[in-house]
Amino acid sequence: MRTKIVAGNWKMNKTASEAASLIEGIKKEVAGITNVEVIVCPPFTDLKDAAAACAGSNVKLGAQNIHWEANGAYTGEISASMLKDLGVTHVIIGHSERRQYFGETDETVNKRTKAALDAGLVPLVCVGETLQERDGGQMEAVVIRQTKAGLAGLDISKVVIAYEPVWAIGTGRTATPEQAQEVHALIRRTLAEIAGKAVADTVRIQYGGSMKPDNAKELMSQPDIDGGLIGGAALKADTFAAIVKAGV
Ligand code: PEP
Repeated sequence: MRTKIVAGNWKMNKTASEAASLIEGIKKEVAGITNVEVIVCPPFTDLKDAAAACAGSNVKLGAQNIHWEANGAYTGEISASMLKDLGVTHVIIGHSERRQYFGETDETVNKRTKAALDAGLVPLVCVGETLQERDGGQMEAVVIRQTKAGLAGLDISKVVIAYEPVWAIGTGRTATPEQAQEVHALIRRTLAEIAGKAVADTVRIQYGGSMKPDNAKELMSQPDIDGGLIGGAALKADTFAAIVKAGV
């Protein structure tokens, strides 16, 4: 039995004070929910205030990226210990926007995931095909490659995967529950190849891409969909909480 996990990817939105008030709103809405893990992932600059707002609640704190080195001359980067020091427990890795705009590769995803695991942070590792790749019949190959290369050599039992078809992110175009389930099952088969079926059956696989209150329940009732990674709808307490409640 896998506990559902719903995480909000705030991207480059919200100042620190806005973050604190959004978390206050989310906390009220999701208080008492114990069978869905709830995570907010604000920008780095919000993390300290966000941690204070999350304290003592069932809302956990995630970051949107992590560097693989422990410290040193890496201008603009943030290490695992810096995140842990602020109370961060989860971190998004390999989001398609980072792959598309910031040169993220399967190799750097692998290094970041290793750094997160070594530090005891839970990595939310994003995989997903572009529309061109799907239309070109490459969806399976891309998702298998990203999963295997991103997780190569790592203990996958502590990893969460987020399947995010790039064509569904921020477009309002959601994968149908059947389309998403097909890929989630493919990812689980790939995880079983890596670490065996028993481990693969325990790994949570979130769906992301225009998940909203009105489609969340159907998506999350698919056998291999264990939650959501939410972009736009995570920026308002009521819509984010409605998605969390759809997973209860
Ligand atoms: C995301 O960017 O992780 C995402 C799923 O965005 P949206 O929900 O806005 O499609």
